Amino acid sequence: MALGEDELTGLADRRNFLAVLRRQVVFANDRRNVLALIVMDVDGFSRINATHGFDFGDQVLRHLAVLLKGVGRPGDHTARIGGDRFALLLPRVLNSGHAELAVQKLQRLLDVPFQVGEHQVRLAATVGVALCPQHATHPDYLLRLAEKALVSARAAGINCAVSPDGGETLDLAEFWDIEIELDGALNRGELAMHYQPQVRVGDLVPVGVEALMRWTSRTRGAVKPDVFIPIAERSGLIKKLTIWALNTALRQASQWEHPFGEFTVAVNLPPALVAQHDLPDLVENAMKLWGREGIVLVLEITERSLMDSRHSFDILSRLRALGARVSIDDFGTGYSCLAYFKDIPADELKVDRSFVSGLLTDTASVHVSSLIIDLAHRFGLAVVAEGIEDEPTLTALRALGCDTAQGYLFGRPLPSDDLQKWLDGAALAHQGL
Ligand code: C2E
Ligand code: CA
Ligand code: CA
Repeated sequence: MALGEDELTGLADRRNFLAVLRRQVVFANDRRNVLALIVMDVDGFSRINATHGFDFGDQVLRHLAVLLKGVGRPGDHTARIGGDRFALLLPRVLNSGHAELAVQKLQRLLDVPFQVGEHQVRLAATVGVALCPQHATHPDYLLRLAEKALVSARAAGINCAVSPDGGETLDLAEFWDIEIELDGALNRGELAMHYQPQVRVGDLVPVGVEALMRWTSRTRGAVKPDVFIPIAERSGLIKKLTIWALNTALRQASQWEHPFGEFTVAVNLPPALVAQHDLPDLVENAMKLWGREGIVLVLEITERSLMDSRHSFDILSRLRALGARVSIDDFGTGYSCLAYFKDIPADELKVDRSFVSGLLTDTASVHVSSLIIDLAHRFGLAVVAEGIEDEPTLTALRALGCDTAQGYLFGRPLPSDDLQKWLDGAALAHQGL
C-alpha cells in the first residue's frame, strides 16, 4: 500500500485527498479555472453490511472505487474520505452542469446491479457538489459545503444537490478580483467599522450599537457588505476580518462617553467561525485588550451557525462564560431551530427586517413577529427588532412587547466619531437620566 492510499480501495485517503484539494484550489486560483468537488455516500451502507456481511460491504466499496475512477477523466482525482464516503475532484469544469453530468454518469453506472457470489444488490448513492470559486475558495470550506449539500440532498430525499449559490451575480473574473483586493484592504486601511444605535423600546434610551463593516476600495469605491462578506466567507479571509472587527469595535466603544450606563456592542460572527475551537480564545483576547467596565460584547450569529448544533452550542456556552452575550440574528429567515430552541445558549433574538418592514401591511408578518417575540420571552431571551424606519412600525412593535429597536428611524450606521455626536444629542434629549 502506498503512503496516503486507502488500503481497501487503493484510492487516495482523506488526508492525501485534502492535500490534493489544497493544491488544486491554488491552481484554480492561479489559472482562474472552476474546480468541482463531488462527494458521495452509499445509501443504506450499514444495512448492506448487516444483511450481507462485512466482506460483501468491502467488495461494495471496492466496486464503487472502480466506478468512480470510471467516471473521472485523466487529471481528475478520486478518494475515499470516510467509511462509505467518496470524493471526486474535477479540475477545469465549465460550470455546475458539467459536474452534474459526471454525477449522472455515476448514477447510470450504479443502476447496473452489483453481484458477488449469490448476493446481488442494487446500489444507490447520494451526492453533494460544490464549486470553487463560486461556493468557496478555501479548500476546507469547499469540502464542508459539498458535504453539507450531500446532507441536504439526503434530507430532501433526492440523489444529488449542488451547494446553494451565494445569490450574487458577479462573473468569475470579478469574483477573483474582489477577493484579491479584499485581501489587501485591511493593510491599506480601506476597512472601517460603523455603528448603528439600538434603543430601548419603552423610553427610547440608547442601550447599545451594532457594529457593521464598511469597505471603501481605492478602485471600486464603496463595496456593499452583502457583496464582500460572502466573498470573505468563501475565501477564508473572514476570520482575519472578524478578529479585526472585534478588536476595533471594542476599542472604539471603550472611547465613547455617555450617561446611559451599561452599553452593548454587537459584532457579527460568520457561521464558519462559530464552529472553530479557537473562537473563544480570540474573543477573550479582544476582551482582555479592550474590554472596559460597562461595555458588554454581544456576538450576533445566524441560525445557519446552529446547524451543527452540539458543537456550536458548546462554543457558544464558552463565549457566554467569558461574559459575552449571544444574539441570534435574522431570526425566522433560515433553518428553523424551533426543535431545540429551548437549549440554545443565547441571550437575545433579532427579528429580521423582512418581518419588521411588513408589519403595517401584511398580517402574516404581524403573526410571525408576535410569535417570535412571545416564544423568545418564554425562553428568557430579549428581543431586538431591526430595520425600523417609521413611527407606526415602532408603535406596532411596542404593542407586541419588543424590547429593543434598531433602524434608520433612530440612526444609520455611523463612524465612531459621528456615533459620539449622536450619543451627545441623545444625552441632551434624555437629560436628567
Ligand atoms: P445584518 O447583520 O442583518 O445587519 C443589518 C443591516 O440592516 C445593515 O446592513 C444595516 O445597515 C441595515 N439596516 C439597519 N437599519 C435599517 C433600516 O431601517 N432600513 C434598512 N433598509 N436597512 C437597515 P449592512 O451594513 O449593509 O450589512 C448587511 C449585512 O452584511 C449584515 O446584515 C451582515 O450580515 C453583513 N455584515 C455587515 N458587517 C459585518 C461584519 O462586520 N461581519 C460580518 N460577518 N457580517 C457583516
Ligand atoms: Ca447583524
Ligand atoms: Ca440582521
